[in-house]
Amino acid sequence: MVAYRDLGFVNTREMFKKAGAGGYAIPAYNFNNMEQIQAIVIACVETQSPAILQVSSGARKYANQTLLKYLAQGAVAMMRDLAREKGLSEVPMSLHLDHGDTFELCKSCIESGFSSVMIDGSHHSFADNIALTKQVVEYAHTYDVTVEGELGVLAGIEDEVQAEHSTYTQPEEVIEFVKKTGVDSLAISIGTSHGANKFKLEQCTRNKDGVLVPPELRFDILEEIEKKIPGFPIVLHGASSVSVEAVKIITQYGGVLKDAIGIPEDQLRRAARSAVCKINIDSDGRLWMTALIRKIFAEKPSEFDPRKYLGPARDALITMYKHKNQNVLGSAGKV
Ligand SMILES: [Zn+2]
Repeated sequence: MVAYRDLGFVNTREMFKKAGAGGYAIPAYNFNNMEQIQAIVIACVETQSPAILQVSSGARKYANQTLLKYLAQGAVAMMRDLAREKGLSEVPMSLHLDHGDTFELCKSCIESGFSSVMIDGSHHSFADNIALTKQVVEYAHTYDVTVEGELGVLAGIEDEVQAEHSTYTQPEEVIEFVKKTGVDSLAISIGTSHGANKFKLEQCTRNKDGVLVPPELRFDILEEIEKKIPGFPIVLHGASSVSVEAVKIITQYGGVLKDAIGIPEDQLRRAARSAVCKINIDSDGRLWMTALIRKIFAEKPSEFDPRKYLGPARDALITMYKHKNQNVLGSAGKV
């Protein structure tokens, strides 16, 4: 058993309390390699933002769960070095399991030093979701690890999580769910979606420049939920904005991303001002890395040093994370 505190992580309780009171959201950035974790640390130290380092079960398989744990541990050490060098404050960091689907997976992460886990029982019946979430909460709270549950189903594909149709969270279910499970935060479905194709064409309109405009998030449902569980931390998954700029670079250099569309940043800003305390961003990072790598491969076909294309991809990630912290989530300067 490795205690997360010994690794330098914090759970999400205090982070969410401050975010809720301060009208901003904590960024949860997924990582599965070195460049991504470097970018998260650099961007969050330089903008002085708390950070949630997020690992999916797919990432654990890809990078090796042991190596991933040490990468996260290394991120804390790097954060401390960087803060000292720059004369800045250290930033609180959580290590979080994204979309845990079984009790055993959550338990294994808690035992290896995660400070927060998500148990996603949203594909089960309401009763089974409660039972599974409660089981994880009881175990996690023994070690003061915080737990995120989910009610409602997001459409889209992300690693091993996929669903054809979304089901909005039913506001009348949230009180019972939160009370019976004891969860610390709740992921809800109000129109966000996993992946780079968040909406079908027929759901969207076009603006005067011909750019696709997605349907607005269901802020009415969010408000209903806030009324039922005032002050309770809400989480948004599938909240990448699918930058038009990144998609343009990818397409310009031979990529094919048909009708890629995300959640407009002004809507995320609005959500971050409300009870939404954590916003998950994964696809935007994937897109920016791909954009830079494609550009360099096209412009410098003789380049074969991975540092020469992964380095610029990392720089693009840093810029994007900083922008999110400063202008979208509002978490910059909140340490
Ligand atoms: Zn998700």
